[in-house]
Amino acid sequence: MVELGHAAKAMVLVEPRQLAATKIPSQPVEAGGWLAVEATAISGADVQAWHGERREVQYPLIPGHQVVGRIAVKDDTIPYEVGTRVVLEPTIKCGRCSRCRLGLATCQFRKPSNTYGLIPSTEPPALWGGMAEYLYIDPAATIHPVTDDVPAEVATSVHSLATGYTWAVELPNLKPGEQVLVLGPGPRGLACLLAAKAAGASWVGVTGLSHDRDRLALAEKLGADVTIDVERHPDIAGVVADSTGQRPDVVIDVTSDDPEAVFQAFDLVRSGGRVILASTKGNRALHFFSDVIVSKQLTVKGAVGASTDSYRWATQRLATDERVDDLVSHQFPLDEAQRAMQAAAGLLGHDELIAVAVTF
Ligand SMILES: [Zn+2]
Repeated sequence: MVELGHAAKAMVLVEPRQLAATKIPSQPVEAGGWLAVEATAISGADVQAWHGERREVQYPLIPGHQVVGRIAVKDDTIPYEVGTRVVLEPTIKCGRCSRCRLGLATCQFRKPSNTYGLIPSTEPPALWGGMAEYLYIDPAATIHPVTDDVPAEVATSVHSLATGYTWAVELPNLKPGEQVLVLGPGPRGLACLLAAKAAGASWVGVTGLSHDRDRLALAEKLGADVTIDVERHPDIAGVVADSTGQRPDVVIDVTSDDPEAVFQAFDLVRSGGRVILASTKGNRALHFFSDVIVSKQLTVKGAVGASTDSYRWATQRLATDERVDDLVSHQFPLDEAQRAMQAAAGLLGHDELIAVAVTF
Protein backbone atom coordinates (compact mmCIF):
# COMPACT_ATOMS: atom_id res chain seq x y z
CA MET A 1 0.00 0.00 0.00
CA VAL A 2 1.08 3.57 -0.75
CA GLU A 3 -0.08 6.36 1.54
CA LEU A 4 0.31 10.13 1.51
CA GLY A 5 0.06 10.09 5.30
CA HIS A 6 -1.68 13.39 5.90
CA ALA A 7 -4.71 15.39 4.76
CA ALA A 8 -4.48 17.57 1.65
CA LYS A 9 -6.04 20.99 1.14
CA ALA A 10 -8.26 21.02 -1.97
CA MET A 11 -10.82 23.15 -3.78
CA VAL A 12 -13.81 20.93 -4.46
CA LEU A 13 -16.38 21.92 -7.10
CA VAL A 14 -19.46 20.67 -5.24
CA GLU A 15 -21.84 21.95 -7.92
CA PRO A 16 -21.53 24.42 -10.80
CA ARG A 17 -19.79 27.64 -9.65
CA GLN A 18 -19.52 26.40 -6.03
CA LEU A 19 -15.88 25.81 -5.06
CA ALA A 20 -15.43 24.77 -1.42
CA ALA A 21 -12.12 24.69 0.46
CA THR A 22 -11.91 21.16 1.83
CA LYS A 23 -9.38 18.98 3.69
CA ILE A 24 -9.22 15.59 1.99
CA PRO A 25 -8.10 12.85 4.41
CA SER A 26 -5.30 10.53 3.36
CA GLN A 27 -6.57 7.38 1.66
CA PRO A 28 -4.10 4.54 1.09
CA VAL A 29 -3.94 3.12 -2.45
CA GLU A 30 -2.66 -0.19 -3.78
CA ALA A 31 -0.21 1.36 -6.23
CA GLY A 32 0.98 4.67 -7.69
CA GLY A 33 2.04 7.79 -5.83
CA TRP A 34 1.35 11.40 -4.95
CA LEU A 35 2.35 14.55 -6.74
CA ALA A 36 3.00 17.71 -4.71
CA VAL A 37 1.25 20.19 -7.02
CA GLU A 38 3.18 23.33 -7.94
CA ALA A 39 0.76 24.84 -10.44
CA THR A 40 -2.36 24.04 -12.44
CA ALA A 41 -3.43 25.95 -15.55
CA ILE A 42 -7.14 26.46 -16.14
CA SER A 43 -8.39 25.29 -19.53
CA GLY A 44 -11.61 25.95 -21.42
CA ALA A 45 -12.81 22.49 -20.34
CA ASP A 46 -12.25 23.44 -16.67
CA VAL A 47 -14.28 26.61 -17.19
CA GLN A 48 -17.07 24.59 -18.86
CA ALA A 49 -17.14 22.19 -15.87
CA TRP A 50 -17.20 25.15 -13.48
CA HIS A 51 -20.08 26.75 -15.42
CA GLY A 52 -21.98 23.43 -15.50
CA GLU A 53 -21.91 23.34 -19.30
CA ARG A 54 -20.66 19.76 -19.76
CA ARG A 55 -23.37 17.15 -19.65
CA GLU A 56 -21.04 14.24 -18.83
CA VAL A 57 -19.51 15.90 -15.75
CA GLN A 58 -20.44 14.47 -12.36
CA TYR A 59 -19.92 16.56 -9.23
CA PRO A 60 -18.24 16.83 -6.78
CA LEU A 61 -14.81 17.04 -8.36
CA ILE A 62 -11.47 18.78 -7.94
CA PRO A 63 -10.89 20.77 -11.16
CA GLY A 64 -7.61 21.05 -13.00
CA HIS A 65 -5.88 18.70 -15.45
CA GLN A 66 -2.99 20.87 -16.67
CA VAL A 67 -0.80 20.12 -13.68
CA VAL A 68 2.90 20.54 -12.86
CA GLY A 69 4.38 19.18 -9.64
CA ARG A 70 7.04 17.12 -7.92
CA ILE A 71 6.78 13.45 -7.06
CA ALA A 72 6.31 13.33 -3.28
CA VAL A 73 5.46 9.69 -2.52
CA LYS A 74 5.73 6.71 -4.88
CA ASP A 75 6.13 2.99 -5.35
CA ASP A 76 7.89 1.02 -8.08
CA THR A 77 5.13 1.71 -10.63
CA ILE A 78 6.43 5.30 -10.97
CA PRO A 79 9.72 5.26 -12.92
CA TYR A 80 11.08 8.58 -11.58
CA GLU A 81 12.73 9.63 -8.32
CA VAL A 82 10.97 11.44 -5.49
CA GLY A 83 11.49 15.18 -6.06
CA THR A 84 11.43 14.97 -9.87
CA ARG A 85 9.41 17.75 -11.46
CA VAL A 86 6.90 16.26 -13.88
CA VAL A 87 3.70 16.82 -15.83
CA LEU A 88 1.05 14.11 -16.10
CA GLU A 89 -0.87 13.57 -19.33
CA PRO A 90 -4.48 14.39 -18.39
CA THR A 91 -6.00 11.18 -19.77
CA ILE A 92 -5.48 7.94 -17.86
CA LYS A 93 -5.53 4.92 -20.18
CA CYS A 94 -5.84 1.24 -19.35
CA GLY A 95 -3.91 0.39 -22.52
CA ARG A 96 -5.97 -2.75 -23.10
CA CYS A 97 -9.49 -1.72 -24.17
CA SER A 98 -10.28 -1.21 -27.85
CA ARG A 99 -10.25 2.59 -27.56
CA CYS A 100 -6.87 2.64 -25.82
CA ARG A 101 -5.43 0.22 -28.37
CA LEU A 102 -6.64 2.51 -31.16
CA GLY A 103 -4.82 5.41 -29.50
CA LEU A 104 -8.02 7.31 -28.70
CA ALA A 105 -8.15 9.72 -25.75
CA THR A 106 -11.14 8.18 -23.99
CA CYS A 107 -10.77 4.82 -22.20
CA GLN A 108 -13.96 2.79 -22.04
CA PHE A 109 -13.16 1.34 -18.61
CA ARG A 110 -13.19 4.70 -16.81
CA LYS A 111 -16.61 6.22 -16.28
CA PRO A 112 -17.77 8.97 -16.23
CA SER A 113 -14.34 10.27 -17.25
CA ASN A 114 -10.74 9.12 -17.61
CA THR A 115 -9.37 12.65 -17.40
CA TYR A 116 -7.77 14.31 -14.38
CA GLY A 117 -9.91 17.23 -13.27
CA LEU A 118 -13.11 15.50 -14.43
CA ILE A 119 -13.04 12.33 -12.28
CA PRO A 120 -15.46 12.74 -9.35
CA SER A 121 -13.76 13.18 -5.96
CA THR A 122 -16.12 10.50 -4.60
CA GLU A 123 -13.87 7.97 -6.40
CA PRO A 124 -11.00 6.96 -4.04
CA PRO A 125 -8.49 8.36 -3.32
CA ALA A 126 -10.39 11.60 -4.15
CA LEU A 127 -7.38 13.69 -5.23
CA TRP A 128 -8.00 13.62 -8.98
CA GLY A 129 -7.57 17.32 -9.78
CA GLY A 130 -4.84 19.94 -9.79
CA MET A 131 -6.61 22.40 -7.50
CA ALA A 132 -5.26 20.60 -4.45
CA GLU A 133 -1.97 20.37 -2.57
CA TYR A 134 -1.53 16.80 -3.84
CA LEU A 135 -2.66 14.82 -6.87
CA TYR A 136 -2.90 11.04 -7.00
CA ILE A 137 -0.52 9.56 -9.58
CA ASP A 138 -2.46 6.66 -11.05
CA PRO A 139 -0.05 3.86 -12.06
CA ALA A 140 -1.60 4.05 -15.56
CA ALA A 141 -0.90 7.80 -15.87
CA THR A 142 1.74 8.87 -18.38
CA ILE A 143 4.44 11.03 -16.78
CA HIS A 144 6.96 13.38 -18.39
CA PRO A 145 9.86 15.04 -16.52
CA VAL A 146 10.08 18.80 -17.17
CA THR A 147 12.81 21.39 -16.71
CA ASP A 148 13.43 22.97 -13.30
CA ASP A 149 14.58 26.18 -14.99
CA VAL A 150 11.20 27.88 -15.47
CA PRO A 151 8.55 28.99 -12.97
CA ALA A 152 5.87 26.38 -12.29
CA GLU A 153 3.09 28.43 -13.91
CA VAL A 154 5.14 28.65 -17.11
CA ALA A 155 5.74 24.88 -17.00
CA THR A 156 1.96 24.30 -17.13
CA SER A 157 2.09 25.50 -20.75
CA VAL A 158 3.56 22.09 -21.67
CA HIS A 159 -0.06 20.94 -21.77
CA SER A 160 -1.25 23.54 -24.29
CA LEU A 161 1.97 23.17 -26.32
CA ALA A 162 1.38 19.42 -26.59
CA THR A 163 -2.20 19.90 -27.80
CA GLY A 164 -0.96 22.51 -30.28
CA TYR A 165 1.53 20.01 -31.71
CA THR A 166 -1.07 17.23 -31.97
CA TRP A 167 -3.72 19.47 -33.52
CA ALA A 168 -1.57 21.57 -35.87
CA VAL A 169 1.14 19.09 -36.87
CA GLU A 170 0.31 15.43 -36.14
CA LEU A 171 -3.40 15.20 -37.00
CA PRO A 172 -3.24 17.21 -40.26
CA ASN A 173 0.14 15.60 -41.09
CA LEU A 174 1.50 19.12 -41.69
CA LYS A 175 4.34 19.42 -44.17
CA PRO A 176 6.98 22.18 -44.39
CA GLY A 177 5.80 25.06 -46.57
CA GLU A 178 2.09 24.53 -45.90
CA GLN A 179 -0.26 27.25 -44.70
CA VAL A 180 -2.36 27.04 -41.55
CA LEU A 181 -5.26 29.15 -40.28
CA VAL A 182 -6.01 28.89 -36.55
CA LEU A 183 -9.53 29.94 -35.50
CA GLY A 184 -9.28 31.06 -31.85
CA PRO A 185 -6.33 32.73 -30.09
CA GLY A 186 -6.56 31.06 -26.65
CA PRO A 187 -3.56 29.24 -25.14
CA ARG A 188 -4.12 26.21 -27.36
CA GLY A 189 -4.60 28.35 -30.46
CA LEU A 190 -1.33 30.14 -29.70
CA ALA A 191 0.29 26.74 -29.17
CA CYS A 192 -1.00 25.62 -32.60
CA LEU A 193 0.73 28.68 -34.05
CA LEU A 194 4.06 27.88 -32.32
CA ALA A 195 3.90 24.21 -33.30
CA ALA A 196 2.97 24.89 -36.94
CA LYS A 197 5.79 27.41 -37.32
CA ALA A 198 8.25 25.04 -35.67
CA ALA A 199 7.19 22.34 -38.16
CA GLY A 200 7.97 24.64 -41.08
CA ALA A 201 4.59 26.17 -41.93
CA SER A 202 5.23 29.00 -44.39
CA TRP A 203 2.21 31.02 -43.26
CA VAL A 204 0.06 30.94 -40.12
CA GLY A 205 -2.98 33.15 -39.52
CA VAL A 206 -4.88 33.47 -36.24
CA THR A 207 -8.44 34.78 -35.77
CA GLY A 208 -10.17 36.07 -32.64
CA LEU A 209 -12.85 38.39 -31.31
CA SER A 210 -12.42 42.07 -30.43
CA HIS A 211 -11.93 41.27 -26.73
CA ASP A 212 -9.06 38.93 -27.70
CA ARG A 213 -6.86 41.85 -28.79
CA ASP A 214 -4.08 41.06 -26.29
CA ARG A 215 -4.06 37.41 -27.36
CA LEU A 216 -3.94 38.47 -31.02
CA ALA A 217 -1.08 40.87 -30.20
CA LEU A 218 0.81 37.96 -28.61
CA ALA A 219 0.09 35.85 -31.71
CA GLU A 220 1.84 38.51 -33.80
CA LYS A 221 4.77 38.53 -31.38
CA LEU A 222 4.96 34.72 -31.68
CA GLY A 223 5.22 34.93 -35.46
CA ALA A 224 1.68 34.95 -36.87
CA ASP A 225 1.72 36.22 -40.45
CA VAL A 226 -1.69 37.80 -40.00
CA THR A 227 -4.13 38.19 -37.10
CA ILE A 228 -7.80 38.91 -37.75
CA ASP A 229 -10.35 40.46 -35.41
CA VAL A 230 -13.39 38.80 -37.00
CA GLU A 231 -15.79 41.33 -35.45
CA ARG A 232 -14.00 44.22 -37.15
CA HIS A 233 -13.17 42.24 -40.31
CA PRO A 234 -15.95 39.67 -40.91
CA ASP A 235 -14.65 39.02 -44.43
CA ILE A 236 -12.02 36.58 -43.15
CA ALA A 237 -11.53 35.03 -46.60
CA GLY A 238 -10.71 38.45 -48.02
CA VAL A 239 -8.17 39.23 -45.32
CA VAL A 240 -6.55 35.80 -45.73
CA ALA A 241 -6.43 36.23 -49.52
CA ASP A 242 -4.81 39.67 -49.14
CA SER A 243 -2.20 38.20 -46.80
CA THR A 244 -1.25 34.97 -48.53
CA GLY A 245 -2.87 34.99 -51.98
CA GLN A 246 -4.26 31.48 -51.52
CA ARG A 247 -6.49 29.43 -49.27
CA PRO A 248 -4.88 27.67 -46.28
CA ASP A 249 -4.04 23.95 -46.52
CA VAL A 250 -5.19 23.39 -42.93
CA VAL A 251 -7.81 25.17 -40.80
CA ILE A 252 -8.06 24.37 -37.08
CA ASP A 253 -11.12 25.25 -34.96
CA VAL A 254 -9.81 26.04 -31.47
CA THR A 255 -12.53 28.57 -30.66
CA SER A 256 -14.38 28.61 -27.39
CA ASP A 257 -17.82 27.14 -28.03
CA ASP A 258 -18.42 29.00 -31.32
CA PRO A 259 -20.56 26.94 -33.77
CA GLU A 260 -19.94 29.49 -36.55
CA ALA A 261 -16.27 28.47 -36.61
CA VAL A 262 -17.13 25.07 -38.12
CA PHE A 263 -18.75 26.74 -41.14
CA GLN A 264 -15.84 29.18 -41.41
CA ALA A 265 -13.35 26.30 -41.39
CA PHE A 266 -15.07 24.44 -44.25
CA ASP A 267 -15.50 27.68 -46.18
CA LEU A 268 -11.95 28.99 -45.76
CA VAL A 269 -9.84 25.85 -46.31
CA ARG A 270 -8.57 25.07 -49.81
CA SER A 271 -10.11 22.26 -51.89
CA GLY A 272 -8.51 18.99 -50.83
CA GLY A 273 -7.46 20.59 -47.54
CA ARG A 274 -7.73 19.38 -43.96
CA VAL A 275 -10.00 20.68 -41.19
CA ILE A 276 -9.26 19.88 -37.54
CA LEU A 277 -12.19 20.36 -35.15
CA ALA A 278 -10.87 20.66 -31.60
CA SER A 279 -13.68 22.57 -29.92
CA THR A 280 -17.03 21.23 -28.71
CA LYS A 281 -20.24 23.23 -29.14
CA GLY A 282 -22.09 22.56 -25.88
CA ASN A 283 -23.99 19.55 -27.30
CA ARG A 284 -25.81 21.81 -29.76
CA ALA A 285 -26.81 20.36 -33.16
CA LEU A 286 -25.32 22.21 -36.12
CA HIS A 287 -27.29 22.43 -39.35
CA PHE A 288 -24.80 22.67 -42.15
CA PHE A 289 -24.47 21.95 -45.81
CA SER A 290 -22.43 18.75 -45.91
CA ASP A 291 -21.97 19.00 -49.69
CA VAL A 292 -19.10 21.41 -49.07
CA ILE A 293 -17.09 18.52 -47.58
CA VAL A 294 -17.84 16.39 -50.63
CA SER A 295 -17.37 18.98 -53.32
CA LYS A 296 -14.15 20.36 -51.78
CA GLN A 297 -12.94 16.78 -51.01
CA LEU A 298 -12.01 17.75 -47.47
CA THR A 299 -10.45 15.64 -44.74
CA VAL A 300 -12.10 16.42 -41.39
CA LYS A 301 -10.70 15.16 -38.09
CA GLY A 302 -11.98 15.53 -34.54
CA ALA A 303 -9.30 16.23 -31.93
CA VAL A 304 -9.29 15.47 -28.20
CA GLY A 305 -6.16 16.00 -26.12
CA ALA A 306 -2.55 15.43 -27.05
CA SER A 307 -0.41 12.43 -27.94
CA THR A 308 2.52 11.15 -25.90
CA ASP A 309 4.91 12.12 -28.73
CA SER A 310 3.56 15.66 -28.63
CA TYR A 311 4.22 15.81 -24.86
CA ARG A 312 7.84 14.90 -25.58
CA TRP A 313 8.02 17.72 -28.14
CA ALA A 314 6.39 20.15 -25.69
CA THR A 315 8.73 19.39 -22.77
CA GLN A 316 11.72 20.08 -25.05
CA ARG A 317 10.11 23.28 -26.28
CA LEU A 318 9.53 24.44 -22.69
CA ALA A 319 13.23 24.00 -21.94
CA THR A 320 14.47 25.81 -25.06
CA ASP A 321 11.93 28.44 -26.21
CA GLU A 322 11.85 31.56 -24.01
CA ARG A 323 8.73 32.81 -25.78
CA VAL A 324 6.76 30.19 -23.85
CA ASP A 325 7.07 32.49 -20.80
CA ASP A 326 4.35 34.71 -22.28
CA LEU A 327 1.73 31.96 -22.51
CA VAL A 328 0.59 32.29 -18.87
CA SER A 329 -0.53 35.78 -17.86
CA HIS A 330 -2.31 35.42 -14.50
CA GLN A 331 -1.73 33.40 -11.35
CA PHE A 332 -3.78 33.02 -8.19
CA PRO A 333 -3.21 31.10 -4.93
CA LEU A 334 -5.42 28.06 -4.25
CA ASP A 335 -7.56 30.06 -1.79
CA GLU A 336 -8.56 32.32 -4.69
CA ALA A 337 -9.51 29.48 -7.05
CA GLN A 338 -12.97 31.00 -7.53
CA ARG A 339 -11.42 34.26 -8.78
CA ALA A 340 -9.03 32.26 -10.94
CA MET A 341 -12.01 30.53 -12.61
CA GLN A 342 -13.74 33.88 -13.10
CA ALA A 343 -10.56 35.29 -14.64
CA ALA A 344 -10.20 32.31 -16.98
CA ALA A 345 -13.86 32.68 -17.98
CA GLY A 346 -13.20 36.31 -18.90
CA LEU A 347 -15.56 37.55 -16.19
CA LEU A 348 -12.86 39.84 -14.72
CA GLY A 349 -12.15 41.37 -18.13
CA HIS A 350 -10.02 40.33 -21.07
CA ASP A 351 -7.23 42.89 -20.75
CA GLU A 352 -3.86 41.13 -20.87
CA LEU A 353 -5.63 37.78 -20.44
CA ILE A 354 -3.70 34.92 -22.06
CA ALA A 355 -4.00 32.01 -19.62
CA VAL A 356 -4.64 31.61 -15.89
CA ALA A 357 -2.88 29.29 -13.43
CA VAL A 358 -3.40 28.42 -9.77
CA THR A 359 -0.03 28.22 -8.01
CA PHE A 360 1.17 26.89 -4.66
ZN1 LIG B 1 -8.73 1.71 -22.00
